[in-house]
Amino acid sequence: MNFHFILFGSLFVAASCEFVWKHHNNEELPLVLEEIHRKCPNITRVYALSEPSVLGVPLYVIEFSDKPGFHQPYKPEAKYVANIHGNEVLGRELLLGLANYFCEAYLNNDQRIGLLIHTTRIHLLPSMNPDGWQLATDTGGQDYLLGRSNNHSVDLNRNFPDLDAITFELEREGINHNNHLLRDITRLAAPLEPETRAVMRWIMQIPFVLSAAMHGGDLVANYPYDESRSGAPVAEYSASPDDDTFRDLAMTYATAHADMASKTRPGCHSTSADDSSLYNFGKQGGVTNGAAWYSLKGGMQDFNYLATNAFEITLELGCDKYPPASALPREWQRNKEALIQYLWKVHSGIKGVVTDDSGFLQNAIISVVNITGHIPRPIIHDVTTGLYGDYYRLLTPGHYEVTASHPGYFPISRIATVPYGQQTSAVILNFELEPTSSWFDEEGALGFYEAAYGTQPRIYKRSLYEKVVRNILELKSNDKH
Ligand SMILES: [Zn+2]
Repeated sequence: MNFHFILFGSLFVAASCEFVWKHHNNEELPLVLEEIHRKCPNITRVYALSEPSVLGVPLYVIEFSDKPGFHQPYKPEAKYVANIHGNEVLGRELLLGLANYFCEAYLNNDQRIGLLIHTTRIHLLPSMNPDGWQLATDTGGQDYLLGRSNNHSVDLNRNFPDLDAITFELEREGINHNNHLLRDITRLAAPLEPETRAVMRWIMQIPFVLSAAMHGGDLVANYPYDESRSGAPVAEYSASPDDDTFRDLAMTYATAHADMASKTRPGCHSTSADDSSLYNFGKQGGVTNGAAWYSLKGGMQDFNYLATNAFEITLELGCDKYPPASALPREWQRNKEALIQYLWKVHSGIKGVVTDDSGFLQNAIISVVNITGHIPRPIIHDVTTGLYGDYYRLLTPGHYEVTASHPGYFPISRIATVPYGQQTSAVILNFELEPTSSWFDEEGALGFYEAAYGTQPRIYKRSLYEKVVRNILELKSNDKH
């Protein structure tokens, strides 16, 4: 009886397990993920975000890791999020295809994919807006806007808290504070939608390092900031402190894609051979700063960067928002290498753990000064350590002064060189901090205690960072003379 059941079961599964390139509906999507999990149970986990869509469709994620469900020190986490706009559907199918490919490649002992999964925790959210997908699909999928929003007619990529406004205000005030800004928000421009809330919680809970959000309607890799500083609606380059790194990340996807970076391809919205007056992103290497294209408030990309340690770019995957199913295998081939190479970028820059003599230090601050050129350039965007005292700092090749600090400890600075051609591991740079009592005497024990444990950690952190940066700059100028 058992034997027959098992035999029947495996035959049934064997018949149903082949991945097919098609538009998977909201019922089929979790079945595809479950099937992949059945084939690769040791390296996958399927889960849903904390709340479903307006119409009650769960937001499913498949995770790849050699220890699914757990963060591990030295193993950075990355994510892809697709179908935020319900009528932009290519990313949704590419992520299902990517999940299937990872599993198949792993089973076939593909060295590169095996190494990626053993060194990285990867989360794929194929659809953030299943309700919009349903509407777009039910209405033929060819309308430029129908199905874009969620079921409350809210554009989810305008629904995140506008942290750009906060960082621009702090810039104007000359305050060096450009990370983990969610605590600085005092009011929301609009109520948060359930899909936005679910994704925000996810972003805040998992220590993501690298991310990409997938859209359609053009062919370009777009990087922060999405919002202009002046409020200009178009054509104002809005650089973030990590502009070099973001450009590098965007270029990685664009150049590994079949023709995103092609200078000879026509622009998506060209009407004639002479399209010089229109945006043709191929001519600029397949990348654009967000606000240099057009400015938007409340996007997910900038929220990632300004609320957490994650770096996110936005991928516009093609002119056609809802390509026919017959185009999907070809689109997979055009994107496959880019999807993989981009994930490897999570291993660029430096990483390490911050400890003291009794263990890991969580929420230690990692500040970086680029000392590659003649003039040291602080990157005014710190990252923080996680549960195991671990941090991941994406950087482009060059020389850096890296400072680890934590309230109640002496900060330590070390020099690190990020080499060219970094592939499978970031440079490891660990710090062991020593507690200090002299600082207590110097600046007042009570104020320090409050700063460290209670009322104003952010202000303390800011002054410390400035102090460190100033020390470094002074050292540099002393060296010269
Ligand atoms: Zn979109």
